[in-house]
Amino acid sequence: MTGFNTRAIHAGQEPDPATGDVVVPLHLATTFKQDGVGGLRGGYEYSRSGNPTRTALQEALASLEQGSTGLAFASGLAAEDTLLRTVCEPGSHVVLGGDAYGGTFRLISRVVSRWGVEHTPVDLNDADALRAAIRPTTRVIWCETPTNPLLNVADIARLAEVAHDAGALLVVDNTFASPYLQQPLPLGADVVVHSTTKYLGGHSDVVGGALVVSDPGLGEQLTFSQNAMGAVSGPLSDWLVLRGIKTLGVRMDRHQANAARIAEHLAAHPAVSAVLYPGLPDHPGHEIAAKQMSGFGGMLSFRLAGGEEAALRVCERARVFTLAESLGGVESLIEHPARMTHASAAGSPLEVPADLVRLSVGIEDVEDLLADLDQALR
Ligand SMILES: *Cc1c(COP(=O)(O)O)cnc(C)c1O
Repeated sequence: MTGFNTRAIHAGQEPDPATGDVVVPLHLATTFKQDGVGGLRGGYEYSRSGNPTRTALQEALASLEQGSTGLAFASGLAAEDTLLRTVCEPGSHVVLGGDAYGGTFRLISRVVSRWGVEHTPVDLNDADALRAAIRPTTRVIWCETPTNPLLNVADIARLAEVAHDAGALLVVDNTFASPYLQQPLPLGADVVVHSTTKYLGGHSDVVGGALVVSDPGLGEQLTFSQNAMGAVSGPLSDWLVLRGIKTLGVRMDRHQANAARIAEHLAAHPAVSAVLYPGLPDHPGHEIAAKQMSGFGGMLSFRLAGGEEAALRVCERARVFTLAESLGGVESLIEHPARMTHASAAGSPLEVPADLVRLSVGIEDVEDLLADLDQALR
């Protein structure tokens, strides 16, 4: 197998045999001419069922995550919904990390639950609590690592063993790490979920999602659901994600170099009471992260000694960091999870502290980012 960056640029993206296009063409056609009834050229008949631009992206995703099958969807949540309603049935049970992405928790607790699927949020690092949460009907253990916005880290290989002993699938939401830093399938996970909106797209200009699996049988089931449920990504989105993927490695290197500098700087700042970044040696998940990731990523959160008021002030005073939701783009973003991305978790087990600020560290010059945080913290 060639190296990661070579695959990011070439997997599924060989020059077009007819025209020599070096870049995969944007195929907008909804339907494809048949040479006689059922005589499909290249297997394409209707764009929901299959589209050549989407095929290229799906092959690239499968290659980067070392899976058998990659599937692209209209959003991360569309991918999650398709997955859950394929592998679960009425009476199934899902165990999920207690600080899973709010949208995932909302999908499971308020939508999929209406089909009779039950769920238990649990601290995935608490082995006793996890064992106690598992039931004979547990079909899925849903893990995010590192988590959003608390940057908790879970041990993927250990969770895979627990899941398989229970006859369940381990699903890992790999959005924060990206496949450049962490590949859950070789560690034993069954399904990788992505919001390609984030690092894979990488430029804050496309909403998309993906599933990658190792077992071809599960891949076939999900391929059926992708077409039958229809939450597919559009060709322009696929094209933009493919373009983003080509530079994933160089972007992630800069994202995490900048994040590491900022984490160290904030840890020494008197206005900051805690920095949550798995790259810091005193982070509770540091050792596991060092074992299963090839870097610590570009996301970090920190808590303000001055409480919620100070947290809001920093968010509003930042100038190079843009006050906005989402993450993973080239530009640095700052946000207040309790009032923004995680406002819907208020009062639930997923509520986040009000003195917390989350950064999506971009690829600008780090001196400008440090100076901006310093002036915002003053
Ligand atoms: C954004 C996000 C999602 C949801 O993806 P969308 O593309 O917004 O639907 C899921 N998981 C994580 C960790 C995310 O950050």
